[in-house]
Amino acid sequence: MAEFRVRYWGVRGSIPAPGPETIRYGGNTTCLEVEVGGKSFAIDGGTGVRLFGSELLKRMPVDVTFLMTHLHWDHVQGFPFFTPFLVPGNKFTIFSAHHNGGNIFDVLKQLMAQPAFPISMDAFRSEVQFRFLEAGDLLKFDDLCVRTCLLNHPGGVIGYRFEFGGKVFVHASDWEHPEDGLDDAFVEFIRDADVLSVDATYTDEEYVGLSGPPRKGWGHATHEAALAHADAAGVKKTVLFHHEQTRSDDDLDALAAKILPGRDAVFAREGLTLDLI
Ligand SMILES: [Zn+2]
Ligand SMILES: [Zn+2]
Repeated sequence: MAEFRVRYWGVRGSIPAPGPETIRYGGNTTCLEVEVGGKSFAIDGGTGVRLFGSELLKRMPVDVTFLMTHLHWDHVQGFPFFTPFLVPGNKFTIFSAHHNGGNIFDVLKQLMAQPAFPISMDAFRSEVQFRFLEAGDLLKFDDLCVRTCLLNHPGGVIGYRFEFGGKVFVHASDWEHPEDGLDDAFVEFIRDADVLSVDATYTDEEYVGLSGPPRKGWGHATHEAALAHADAAGVKKTVLFHHEQTRSDDDLDALAAKILPGRDAVFAREGLTLDLI
């Protein structure tokens, strides 16, 4: 197992966007894997978790800890198709906060029930434990420290900061910046990250309503605001994440050519793998 590796299985926000125009960056919603210190973590269970599950079937038995950012559809809708839940011998621990009074257990129970879905959680054959956290909790796993922070998003979202071996990876998606200036608490949370995975859903034009409806208050950041916060925090490498569903491969390439030259920053794509150690 890699010492400290991040791998993206789903990078799209809001709704899956498969098709010929999203082949290169991918159409699956959010899921990423973090292998660190001999342990396996995953963040969220969007439709990308189905692909992650197929990979895990080759590695069984597995012991994976899921960290949920929040419970919106695009972060949970892949779980009913996460096959390793149905196979004996695996162990999963799923951490989530309570969002608007609900938690991941409640949501999965509703997702996996008639009339919306034919198989219930009673079909799980792996050991699946649910753990609950409060924003601000510090999670310790031997030499790994995972800090949590409440970020600005409707209903709240948890950001995760992994610290291990002198390296820092932060995943901070589904976050909206202030109208003017910087979100100081956000800057502190992502301070000096070696890799920051950050919400970058909208163009400036989309955000203010020059292209479609104004998106202010929808809980997401613009590309420019994400980069400005990364710069202010001294982030080394920025991964722009949670692509808007209509954003095609060509759109993302054009944006990259416009805003990323001279920066250590990339648009996330399915399969992107980064080694911090
Ligand atoms: Zn989302
Ligand atoms: Zn959300």
